[in-house]
Amino acid sequence: MSAAGTKAMHCLSFDVEEHFQVSGFWSEDRRQHWDTYESRVENNTRKIVELLAQHETKATFFVLGWVAERYPGLVNMLVEQGHEIASHGYSHELITDQTPAIFRDDVRRAKGILEDICGKRVHGYRAPSFSITKDTKWAISVLAEEGYVYDSSIFPVLHDRYGMPNATPTVHLLRGEAGCIWEVPPSTTNIFGTRVPVAGGGYFRIFPYPILRQLLKRVEKAGHPLVMYLHPWELDPDQPKMQGSSLSVFRHYINLHKTEDRLSALLGDFCFTSIRGALESVDQACAKAEGAYSQAKLLALDDHIESVRLRV
Ligand SMILES: [Zn+2]
Repeated sequence: MSAAGTKAMHCLSFDVEEHFQVSGFWSEDRRQHWDTYESRVENNTRKIVELLAQHETKATFFVLGWVAERYPGLVNMLVEQGHEIASHGYSHELITDQTPAIFRDDVRRAKGILEDICGKRVHGYRAPSFSITKDTKWAISVLAEEGYVYDSSIFPVLHDRYGMPNATPTVHLLRGEAGCIWEVPPSTTNIFGTRVPVAGGGYFRIFPYPILRQLLKRVEKAGHPLVMYLHPWELDPDQPKMQGSSLSVFRHYINLHKTEDRLSALLGDFCFTSIRGALESVDQACAKAEGAYSQAKLLALDDHIESVRLRV
């Protein structure tokens, strides 16, 4: 719980990808033509950065390797503005469609590209569409072996495309043979015994904001840091329309014109910063990994780490 008179710090994150790369509209044919679509990611990300600057807020940006490769200036701008750079993988292919070997190449390639651009160690990873599920748990070991310190891909909810309903819903340390990795799950809350997502994305645009705000306050009062996420394309109501299933069309386009104002309201109602900034134990683990950077693999982190508390 936060001390009286101070405000709890929460985690704000953005998955930096183009509007045509989302999993809901994925097709092999579209994938082959990514380079021919109109790019909107730079302008949309700049919109977010301006909004964050107005609210003097920092965030974590999980940048897709494919995007970073084409727009290194965008990554550098985020670093210059004091934001944390993390990895969204390279290809945006769902992990459920990848083999462990392909996944390893994907996360290694993205990390290398991002680190070369920003000259800093990249510690965090978020999977396309939160696709670390019960079938792809092996991905956690691969991430630890590849030097990632934290992951934010396990969504503890029931969903048609992702989710692990029985996963721990708060920030925790996962221990594996390859070492340890912090898991930073997107926020959820319980309503009548059912775990409901309140973390961002489509949920952020579908729930009326006053209701969402109330649910987020509940999470805060329980002493848990919020872990919120959005995408640059969610602040772009003028993006070209894509064809897809009616469910994907609904999820992708609903209330895009409201996102910017809602994000602004959210930034006024809660205190956000990057994942490293908000989570002291994760920050310490990242700092420790930086000390061990010359070694190829992440060394096992301290087993004795206190439970994660709100940083105020
Ligand atoms: Zn994504």
